[in-house]
Amino acid sequence: MPPLIAPRLLAWYDRHRRDLPWRAPPGRLNDPYFVWLSEIMLQQTTVATVGPYFRAFLDRWPTVKRLAAAPLDDVLHAWQGLGYYARARNLHACAKAVAERHGGRFPETEAALLALPGIGTYTAAAVAAIAFDRVATVVDGNVERVVARLFALETPMPEVKPEIRRLAAMLTPESRPGDFAQAMMDLGATVCTPKSPKCILCPIREDCRAAAAGIAGDLPRRAAKKARPQRYGIAFWLLRDDGAVLLRKRPEKGLLGGMTEVPSTPWRTEPWSLREALPEAPEPASWRLLPGRVEHVFTHFSLEIGVAVARVGKAAAGDWCPTMALHTKALPTIMKKICRHALDGMGPQQ
Ligand code: SF4
Repeated sequence: MPPLIAPRLLAWYDRHRRDLPWRAPPGRLNDPYFVWLSEIMLQQTTVATVGPYFRAFLDRWPTVKRLAAAPLDDVLHAWQGLGYYARARNLHACAKAVAERHGGRFPETEAALLALPGIGTYTAAAVAAIAFDRVATVVDGNVERVVARLFALETPMPEVKPEIRRLAAMLTPESRPGDFAQAMMDLGATVCTPKSPKCILCPIREDCRAAAAGIAGDLPRRAAKKARPQRYGIAFWLLRDDGAVLLRKRPEKGLLGGMTEVPSTPWRTEPWSLREALPEAPEPASWRLLPGRVEHVFTHFSLEIGVAVARVGKAAAGDWCPTMALHTKALPTIMKKICRHALDGMGPQQ
């Protein structure tokens, strides 16, 4: 039988819970819209980064219905800086589904939540538990760490995940499951931290096997990391005489789906020469490669991209944007870097 940690953990939570912008005051139910929005924003992003975005979204779209009615481009623009744009697109699709299929009220069960766009196992459990106080197993990175240490699990990540999940489910109480989920997260974020856990302050220390064995800081173990593959590309900065630059929309599916970009070659594993890249240019022109490269790290690969520049007088139709107005476009970070490199490289004569 797993140890009965819920009473001590909940008592600790009542005194030490974090004050987060999306959290209701003690004893009050959390707003499902707040919980869902914050959980989507928090995936692979820190609480400190998300805070201002969360407030800005709520100021602009105080309800899920208002978010559903917003143009997608406005949502993508407001999302800029949080990365992973597929999530922003799914966020909007999910808001629409909640408005259209559920009359603007989030469903309460994990199964119904899972049927919504962009809601996976974790988010469904988090919304069901935190917003509706349903018994659900909520396992984020913080919870994984606490459970791996509590049971001194030596199997490395990610292999150990199913075991963590099974044990986390056994720890979850029938009473106050939503607070329990948040308490586990808070414990992981503030006490059972990745490096130097503060076991002396921990309410469940007497049950913790890793603390007893003196190996808390070594868990969870991680499998050796594979090197991130490198990819290369050349971007084409085509400047019209009136100071507008050519942009285009990326395909809806895939990395940075539907986002605006500076046209470029495909991103491949071999570096490109300019000659090789020219057939991919948006128009024939006197292209020259600027010195230096733009570098960017995505989750699954690193990108090194050269920037070719050219000027044209009259040009074909397309998405031409005055360079002064680039800030109004929903450009992902890599494209902003390319713009900066091109603007710096072409100098004041442009
Ligand atoms: Fe984490 Fe230490 Fe608490 Fe164990 S005793 S759960 S390692 S903080």
